[in-house]
Amino acid sequence: MKTFRVPPNRWLFVRAETNDGIVGWGESTLEGHTEAIEGAFNDLWRFIGVEADNIVDIWQVFALDSLRGPVLMSALSGLDIALWDIKGKRHGIPVWKLLGGKIRDRIKVYGWIGGDQPSDVLDAAKNRKAEGFTCVKMNATDIVARIDSPEVLRGTVERVQQLQSVGLDVGIDFHGRFHKGMAKQLAKLLEPLHPLFIEEPLLPTQPEEIADISHLVSTPIALGERLYTCFDFRPYLERRVIDIAQPDVSHCRGITELHRIA
Ligand SMILES: [Mg+2]
Repeated sequence: MKTFRVPPNRWLFVRAETNDGIVGWGESTLEGHTEAIEGAFNDLWRFIGVEADNIVDIWQVFALDSLRGPVLMSALSGLDIALWDIKGKRHGIPVWKLLGGKIRDRIKVYGWIGGDQPSDVLDAAKNRKAEGFTCVKMNATDIVARIDSPEVLRGTVERVQQLQSVGLDVGIDFHGRFHKGMAKQLAKLLEPLHPLFIEEPLLPTQPEEIADISHLVSTPIALGERLYTCFDFRPYLERRVIDIAQPDVSHCRGITELHRIA
């Protein structure tokens, strides 16, 4: 097993090779924290020499023996994905077939356009449109104060209107940057514009408060890139809080757990 950093050190890929020469690739990217993941891999080298076909056994030994957090779980994700890749190649079957087969031939995608620098958003959106995208996603704001000026809220609304005026659908990522007071206000102001979704209205340390916002507006609520297990998703599903689950396969302990979450 070997890890590979991809400049500018945002991405981390994992290569695992079996004795008989089958190579699998996985991804352990943790939004720029590549050195932390490399450190975590020092704990995963102990699996060198085990039977690569026993994915769930390897997964359980590491997952159940580790404290659960983004670093260790992202490392495990990369190994898990690489092991599924190896299994598919060994049997000559794509992983999606091993998991039960195809459901659709095409999916709708959005283009990310940033948003931390509000002045750049419209140009970025026009570029995405030229590339053929019909939807874009942006951060609602840069960092905001606990209770900031209403101007911040108006700025976000104006940007969404600008993007819609060039014919694009828009998803808004609050990125957990707002505190509850302003998150409520902004969700209300955005509701009449029909954004595709609001992502992470608050940080997922606050399932009850996120539930309040979810029940306050009709806008679909998306969340999940900071949740690592099916158990982490449970409170949101039980409270009917999220409309779009967003597990990140590079954080949520790989394809094995992603399938359980789904
Ligand atoms: Mg996000």
